Amino acid sequence: MPIINRIAEFHADMTAWRRDFHAHPELGFEEFRTAEKVAALLTEWGIEVHRGLGVTGVVGTLHGAHPARDTGAGRPKVIALRADMDALPMQEENDFAHASTVPGKMHACGHDGHTTMLLGAARYLAETRNFAGTVRFIFQPAEEGRGGALRMIEDGLLEKLPFDEVYGLHNWPEMPAGIMAMRPGPMMAAADLFDITVSGRGGHGAMPHHSVDPVVVASQIVTALQTLVSRGTDPMDNAVVSVTRIHAGSAYNVIPGEARLSGTVRSFRPETRDRLEAGIRRISEGVAAALEAAATVDYRRNYPPTLNTPAETDFAAGVATRMLGEAAVMRDFEPSMGAEDFAFMLERTPGCYAWIGQAGGGGGCMVHNPRYDFNDEILPLGASYWANLVEAALPREVA
Ligand SMILES: [Zn+2]
Ligand SMILES: [Zn+2]
Repeated sequence: MPIINRIAEFHADMTAWRRDFHAHPELGFEEFRTAEKVAALLTEWGIEVHRGLGVTGVVGTLHGAHPARDTGAGRPKVIALRADMDALPMQEENDFAHASTVPGKMHACGHDGHTTMLLGAARYLAETRNFAGTVRFIFQPAEEGRGGALRMIEDGLLEKLPFDEVYGLHNWPEMPAGIMAMRPGPMMAAADLFDITVSGRGGHGAMPHHSVDPVVVASQIVTALQTLVSRGTDPMDNAVVSVTRIHAGSAYNVIPGEARLSGTVRSFRPETRDRLEAGIRRISEGVAAALEAAATVDYRRNYPPTLNTPAETDFAAGVATRMLGEAAVMRDFEPSMGAEDFAFMLERTPGCYAWIGQAGGGGGCMVHNPRYDFNDEILPLGASYWANLVEAALPREVA
C-alpha cells in the first residue's frame, strides 16, 4: 500500500491548487473564494456537494461503487475525512512566487496543504470508487480559534450528513516528511481563555497610602497563579497557565483604578481543567481581597482536548504503517499543548487525528511563523493516506 500511482500522477495539479490557496489566504468564516474552488472541483468530479454549514463549510459525499451492508442504522457505513481551510491574521515574510497576495493574512499553519491533500484524495476516490459505503469530505472553516468545527455541528452537520467515524490530519514541521504520528487518548490540549479585572482605588502616584493600587495586586495575582501548575498539578499530568497580557494605567504619576490580566489555560484531563478554572477564581479573588481590592474573573472554555479513540487510532496507524513501513509511524507521539477544534468532532464521534511530517522541503520552520510554507512534496503522501484509509475502512466484500 505505497503512495497511490494515480495520485502521484496529479501531483502537479495538487501543487498548483495548494499554491493558489496559499496566495489567496482567507480568515475564519471568510473562506468564500477557497470554498468556491473546493466546491467547484468536487462538483467537477461528480461528488455531491453540501454547502452552508458553518457559513463557508463545504461537505462532499461520495458513495462507493460496491454494494455495502446496512450497519443497523438504516444505511451503510459512513466515514468522514476533515480538512481545515482558514489562514491566520499575520504578515507573510516569504518572497517566493506563491506568497500571500493579501496584506496581513497568511497560510502559516498549512491549511492550504490540508485542503489540497483532501481534494487529491477526493479526486482519486471519485475516479475509482473502489469501496463499499460512503465517504464524506469535510472542508471546515475557522479552525484557528474561531471554532468552525463546532459551528458546523451546531448547524446540523451530524444530523444532516451523519457519519460513524471521523479522521483529521495536520502537518507537523518538526517531523521529517515521510513520517506520520498518532496516539490513542490526548493528542492536543484543551484551550481556555481568561480575563481578570482587578478593581482598586486610583490616586496620586506620590501618595499611594490614599489608594488601593491594582498594579501591585495584579502583580501578586500573576505570581500566585504560577502555583496552580507548579504546586497544584500532579507532576505526571500536563498543564499550562500563561498570563499573556497586563493592561493598566496611563501616566507616570497616577495610580490607576483598575488593572486587567488575560491569558490561556491548557490541560488534558477534565478534572485538571475544573481545578485550574476554580483555582484561577479562588486565587484572583482571594489575593485581591487580602489586599483590599476586588477581582472578577471571566473564564471561557474554548476548545476541549483532542482525544483519539483507541480502535480508530489503531486502525489509522495500521493504514499509515502499510503505506510507510513500521519505522515511519510513531504510535506514541508526545501530545502537544496546542489545541485543535477537531476536538469538537472527536467529542461526538470516534476517530483519529494524526500528524504528517513535512520537514525537509520549503517549510522548514514551525507553523504560525511568518516564514512558514507547506511542503508540496508531501501532497501525494497525505492524499494517499486518505484514499488508503477509505478503502480500508470501507472494504468491498470478497465474493
Ligand atoms: Zn494553526
Ligand atoms: Zn493548523
